[in-house]
Amino acid sequence: MIIFKINAAVHDFIIKKKKTGITTGLVPTMGALHNGHLALLNKARLENELVVCSLFINPTQFNDPGDFERYPVTIENDIYLLEKAGCDVLFIPAVKEIYPGGFNLLQHYDLGYLETILEGKFRLGHFQGVCQVVHRLLDIILPDKIYLGQKDLQQCMVIKKMVELQKIKTEIVICATQREPDGLAMSSRNLRLSEAGRAKAPAIYAMLKTIKNELVAGNVENIKLKAFNTLTEKGFKVDYVEIADAASLELVTEWNGKKPLAILAAAFIDAIRLIDNIVIDE
Ligand code: AMP
Repeated sequence: MIIFKINAAVHDFIIKKKKTGITTGLVPTMGALHNGHLALLNKARLENELVVCSLFINPTQFNDPGDFERYPVTIENDIYLLEKAGCDVLFIPAVKEIYPGGFNLLQHYDLGYLETILEGKFRLGHFQGVCQVVHRLLDIILPDKIYLGQKDLQQCMVIKKMVELQKIKTEIVICATQREPDGLAMSSRNLRLSEAGRAKAPAIYAMLKTIKNELVAGNVENIKLKAFNTLTEKGFKVDYVEIADAASLELVTEWNGKKPLAILAAAFIDAIRLIDNIVIDE
């Protein structure tokens, strides 16, 4: 695995490789890697000759400065895991490589409705930051495919929209959420949970499955409220439990019993914010 820190260096390397006719897959991450990230990498490995992983804790997507400061960093272990997983190129840029002009004149993306709901509503500016960093990475790495996790379903849709708006040709590949044996969605932030918090955390996924099992056609407001209250009683500070159209993420209050749905939740435990979702498409 070759490690690059300089944008021009990795870009030139990739341009040369692309001239030989190979395909490139990009797995963007913020590090503190786990099996969720490695699942994306494995898929990229299967589908491309050149696999690039980026590791950059993007300041512009953190609406909470404390969350940014405390974001876990496990760089040596990340390098070890990536080597083992057969990653070809690791790109670890400094902030000035990604934002050479600083943070003042950053691009704004017209994300419309998508930015007003769920994560967009509770993390103001978050998706602008996500678009800024992913757009920049796509310009530098020029991948044929970018690999994203369904764990961040709304982020996948936002990136899809940004790619359309910018007329970028990169194909988006969405990979299934990887979970711990007790159902908790793998996340770098899980490292920051206390023992008690870690024990409680699987309740989010359990609640999503309960909603799935109890859903029937008709009004879905009560089922959402019940789930919200269940998590609150268990000690979570809940941002949202929502049911949305799986294709558009438009929030659903009346379900026709057929339309594919996404059930999404965000909740704090131990002041650590966890998100998860499941899609019902049968
Ligand atoms: P992050 O490092 O948290 O920014 O995540 C980098 C990529 O890994 C994003 O596309 C995430 O959606 C994806 N990812 C994070 N956790 C998981 C997971 N448990 N399963 C699958 N993909 C994940």
